[in-house]
Amino acid sequence: MKIVSAEILSYSLRLGEDIHKVQGDWKPLLLRLTTDEGIVGLGEAGLAYGVGRRAGVGMLHDMIEAFVIGRDPFDREAIWNDMQRRSFWGGAAGPVVNAAMSAVDIALWDIAGKALGMPVWKLLGGRVQADLRAYASQIQFGWEEDFFLYGQPGQYADAARKAVAQGYDAVKVDPVMNTEDGELENPDRLKGALDKAVINRARARMEAIRDAVGPDVDIILELHSFTSLTGSQQLAEACADLDLFMVEEAVNYNSDRPARTLKQRCPQVRLAAGERIFTRWQYRGYLEDGSLDMLQPDFCLAGGISEGRKIADMAHAYEVTIQGHVCGGPVSSLAAMHIETAIPNFQIHEHHINSTCADNRHICHEDYQPVQGRLVAPDAPGLGLTLNDAFAARHASVVTVKV
Ligand code: MG
Repeated sequence: MKIVSAEILSYSLRLGEDIHKVQGDWKPLLLRLTTDEGIVGLGEAGLAYGVGRRAGVGMLHDMIEAFVIGRDPFDREAIWNDMQRRSFWGGAAGPVVNAAMSAVDIALWDIAGKALGMPVWKLLGGRVQADLRAYASQIQFGWEEDFFLYGQPGQYADAARKAVAQGYDAVKVDPVMNTEDGELENPDRLKGALDKAVINRARARMEAIRDAVGPDVDIILELHSFTSLTGSQQLAEACADLDLFMVEEAVNYNSDRPARTLKQRCPQVRLAAGERIFTRWQYRGYLEDGSLDMLQPDFCLAGGISEGRKIADMAHAYEVTIQGHVCGGPVSSLAAMHIETAIPNFQIHEHHINSTCADNRHICHEDYQPVQGRLVAPDAPGLGLTLNDAFAARHASVVTVKV
């Protein structure tokens, strides 16, 4: 079997009017590989947000031309190694090169599953997790189907109550990124030592959520690397009595040093990060110094399902758990679900508010949403996804690469 063509699908979508005003289009970047036997595989490059989608299209185009077309889709390790070692840029690690490698690798796993008539989780070693405990992610935007930029503590409490009423027993919130008036905070105000108004505002929101959900619901405090060392320490101290499950992206991850220093200063705080850390090589330092309690690799950025599995296994040796970072289209969700199902050190699954929005749910024909806060990886061959071509024709621009 050989890969004979590839389509790079670059979507321009709207998840909600409020979020569109501040962030513009939602831009999932998908890949569909086709074999000479007519089997297709879907992949995704994790560049749906931020700046860099067009770079992702270009990198995918170049990688596919150089290393994918004409290859046997079962040669996943050889293709991954070629993309890393022979592209020059794969020799380090970064979002654009590793996003492209991830999309290719995920599509190859999807093809393998379809060719063998097995779900990806089965090819990864079989079902270890009967189901996946999911959390409602980013409730500073409300919860479900539309986005709002919440400012008042009561709104945060309402969003948390809504998630808990649906059966979730864990939520995640960023209490610093929105002003009290429901605008995006100036990120420059969140660097260095924080002023008291920012700390008190965050504390009031976190306290409102804890009061709303009671003692038995886990709360992840998300900081999106808006804060740096001193500010994240101030916030961790201000919320010390709220029994936080994890603090996510408390510092910057250009190097492992700030995370290590924060862990030394606040040893009682559990730290999670990973959506801007790529490949085994970049994760290694965080594991060796014990600075992270839970890794959050984005499997559409860190190197795909092949690399994600290796990162998860490496973390297991350090007794560190895994939550795939999911903030993309449906391939991103399913790649995480398949790996998380097949590993013993799964911690929790991220169900992002994006994944509840209509446009994201129309990209593929299948739509996997948690029931009572739980998800089950499908038994269908491959990832369990088929692209909605009619939706793609309306909302995606396509670059085709052929033999
Ligand atoms: Mg995050």
